Amino acid sequence: MPLKAYDLTGRTALVTGAASGIGRASAVLLAEAGATVVCADRDGPGVRETAELIEKAGGAARARQLDVTDRAQIAETVAETVRDHGRLDVLAAIAGIMHSSSVLETDDADLDRVLGVNFKGVLHSAQEAARVMTAQRSGSIITMASGAIDTGARGLLCYSVSKAAVVQLTRTLATELGPLGIRANAIAPGFIRTPMTSHYGTGSDGSFDETVQARAEASLVRMAPLGRVGTPEDVAGSVLFLASDASAFTTGQILRPNGGVAMPW
Ligand code: NAP
Repeated sequence: MPLKAYDLTGRTALVTGAASGIGRASAVLLAEAGATVVCADRDGPGVRETAELIEKAGGAARARQLDVTDRAQIAETVAETVRDHGRLDVLAAIAGIMHSSSVLETDDADLDRVLGVNFKGVLHSAQEAARVMTAQRSGSIITMASGAIDTGARGLLCYSVSKAAVVQLTRTLATELGPLGIRANAIAPGFIRTPMTSHYGTGSDGSFDETVQARAEASLVRMAPLGRVGTPEDVAGSVLFLASDASAFTTGQILRPNGGVAMPW
């Protein structure tokens, strides 16, 4: 049984991006803390696997194939969650995509695609969740930004702009919804080893090569006071904190699980 402040028994969480990486680890940890977790992702088999992992460990989960670029699907998922579980206490809007191109190479199609998932997908998920939470007069909305918000990064125009927009969306949600009992916070992880970042380890034969990945990560490891890159579970801990009563007085903030690589005020 978790500490009372972290205990999510009786609460329902919707986690997008739950088929993989940070989303999967977060769904698993929220369920371990007692929440019923609706695991949503465009990857149907992947999200069913996450729900099975949770159920095998004795938790409660539901899998839902969901593309966050389709607003109607989000609305349906939220409505189904409320119909089946009576409430929605936590939205962890984690689904996201990466795109690399320089400013001069970036075209509108790239920008629209990345903003469509990383910004509008989060906005529409937050809007649909907030309608339910407003009626409940309680809820926690957690968004996934990135360390890319804290610095200029070569080739990450679309991605870093989308994540900066997520932060400003989160502050606006916190400001407008705080009086209604709803909190909103962003997480800005540093480099986390997940399928999104494992392409750095692609060897000459096209398969994953641990040595190649470690070489790509070496400069980040040197920069990190904690001397390593992150794991999905490192970020899931931040998600649990923001989902739970342990963060009852925390809203409009950016939490940075990054090993100390960046320390902005
Ligand atoms: P991941 O392993 O690639 O997981 C992302 C999940 O989101 C995948 O299952 C992906 O499905 C899904 N997804 C993508 N587009 C979607 C859509 N339109 N609708 C529903 N689901 C969609 O990546 P991750 O590293 O765990 O990243 C999770 C979040 O953390 C992202 O928002 C990312 O930007 C952020 N983040 C990651 C890092 C890092 O270093 N890994 C650092 C900072 C922030 P597909 O596999 O089909 O694309």
